[in-house]
Amino acid sequence: MKTVGEWLRGNEHTQPDKEKGSQQNRSPQSHPQTGRSGDDSSKRRPSHRRPNNRGGNRPAHPPAGRAGSGSGKPPQHRPPGQPQPKYIAPVLQGGAKSGLRIYPLGGFEQVGRNCMVIEVDGDIYIVDLGLQFPDEDMLGIDYLIPDVSCLRGRENRIRGVLFTHGHLDHIGAVQHLMPQLHFPKCFGTKLTIAMARKRLDEEKLTSKCSLNPVEYGEKIRLGKVEVEFLKVTHSIPDSAAIALHTPYGTIVHTGDFKFDLTPVNEDPADFQRLAELGKNGVLAIIADSTNASVPGFSKSETDISKTLHDLVRDAEGRIIVSTFSSLLTRIQQIIDHAKIYNRKIFISGRSMVTNIEIAQNLGYIKAPRGMIRKVGPGMEKIPDKEVIIITTGSQGEARAGLARIGLGTHRQIAVKKGDTVILSSNPIIGNQRAVTKVINNLQLKGAIIKTNAELSLHTTGHGNQGDIQLMHRLVKAKHVIPEHGEPYMRSAHADIARSVGYEDNQIHMLINGEILEFDTNGNARKSKQKHTVNDVIIDGREEAASEGKRVMSDRKIMSEGGMVSIVFRAYKDSGRLIGTPDVISRGLLYGSEEAEISGEVAQVAKKAYEESLNRGEKDRSAFKKAVTGALYRYFDRKLSREPMIVPVIVEV
Ligand SMILES: [Zn+2]
Ligand SMILES: [Zn+2]
Repeated sequence: MKTVGEWLRGNEHTQPDKEKGSQQNRSPQSHPQTGRSGDDSSKRRPSHRRPNNRGGNRPAHPPAGRAGSGSGKPPQHRPPGQPQPKYIAPVLQGGAKSGLRIYPLGGFEQVGRNCMVIEVDGDIYIVDLGLQFPDEDMLGIDYLIPDVSCLRGRENRIRGVLFTHGHLDHIGAVQHLMPQLHFPKCFGTKLTIAMARKRLDEEKLTSKCSLNPVEYGEKIRLGKVEVEFLKVTHSIPDSAAIALHTPYGTIVHTGDFKFDLTPVNEDPADFQRLAELGKNGVLAIIADSTNASVPGFSKSETDISKTLHDLVRDAEGRIIVSTFSSLLTRIQQIIDHAKIYNRKIFISGRSMVTNIEIAQNLGYIKAPRGMIRKVGPGMEKIPDKEVIIITTGSQGEARAGLARIGLGTHRQIAVKKGDTVILSSNPIIGNQRAVTKVINNLQLKGAIIKTNAELSLHTTGHGNQGDIQLMHRLVKAKHVIPEHGEPYMRSAHADIARSVGYEDNQIHMLINGEILEFDTNGNARKSKQKHTVNDVIIDGREEAASEGKRVMSDRKIMSEGGMVSIVFRAYKDSGRLIGTPDVISRGLLYGSEEAEISGEVAQVAKKAYEESLNRGEKDRSAFKKAVTGALYRYFDRKLSREPMIVPVIVEV
């Protein structure tokens, strides 16, 4: 995965230039597939509209595809000798564009911060507002969120934010972005909305939001588009694919999905409706690519349930299970097995407690009264054989329950010899080392460890190649947009699409900010325009957009080279120095060299400052620049290091 900032590209909104011969067609023929109208919930909010002088549509290159090797059944009619597609009117200012455009604002160069925009005649539909957890090299960053600044000035055109499911990479940015988007209406299934509400509650924003729970199969009219949520299986209940029936055709967004034919505690995906959509004609599918490079079909949750059952049946002592707090069907399985073998459930970890609470209130977790408790005093009075602890920390997170249990720093839980610790999870790439450390610690304290490496204790929530092929066979969209994944995953998805007969000009590989435009004939191609998409970081509670890159590069420099600050005192009027500057360093100099080098640094800095002053410089920033330059050269020569250098001038 790229480091943050490397994907900062396309730094401006391209102005539209005219393209000769492009056909204007402001009233695209619609072939409405939306016979029914739901309740019209498209009433406008008061608008906060600002002028928008961004560029609009314009025709783009034809796809750089060879006429593919259609091995049989590429879905749909492409007229032979396909004529140059007609493109919908270029550019209407102020958001009143016509035509259908699709562009991701996140989730196409990373797993996380998912956000997809679908524009229908200037009306805006947003699918998901997720966060991305930082990479290891994004030091100290809490998370990243999608950059929605390209929607500025068009907030009143947002007809709805549609959430596919309640995972943080899909809803986690809601509390940061709702104000920025002027609180558009939000839609999602019951649990998804409850999860989003929880995040908004934390920022006291809920009362300003319009949160609308929807049922599977319900159709909602939002402007010209009818939106429909469809059941899919994933690793959190209430996951949905979303169909948007636009005047230009139907767009299906799969959300995160797998096809589990034997799910536990929930229904399988709505195969019938997906197939029906396919039969009626789908213009484009935007589909999950996470496991596109994994062959076969994803494993069923039922397999996991069997393993868990056997472990609960056979354990002699306490059982400590660690899994994802949103994997509520898994948690329900553990509860079900506990019931059979007469064990009580104790919950540890904030997100675990919160999610189970939400799920119990909504009926997604069912347990006899009094069976589920928070860990705490009193737990010790219950015989070991009657205890199951469910905790967070299956990814080795240092602050989460399991790691603290392993280290012996958990306030309520200490591992005992004979405890069975079950990791019902897989380490996400990058977390393996941390998880191994936790396992080692637990083992040293006498626990019996069970992981997915030896037993069937976890299955993915994302479809493998077989699942993805099946999705394409059912939906038979004309165009495929692989989403949710780093470039290599999405490219594996493109291969899958080819394997079921798609041609290259039907498969569209976008990166964040790139725009796919559709003409009235249902042809699609990438616009030459591109939206600027920056890395917006959330650090503490602050949000920093363009600063994000700098903050992270600063931290990287400090982590590798340490930091040196030089404090000058100078007369305000003359700029002359008083005495020798003070040198403060962190993470750079130790022991005997510290005093020596600090002395030299002070002299080098002083000399650079004075030379700059004598050259007639008056500006503080010029002094600082001179000092920084001189010290960079000094450290490079002396220590082969590149610390962060922070000159400070105090005027007296
Ligand atoms: Zn998910
Ligand atoms: Zn996801």
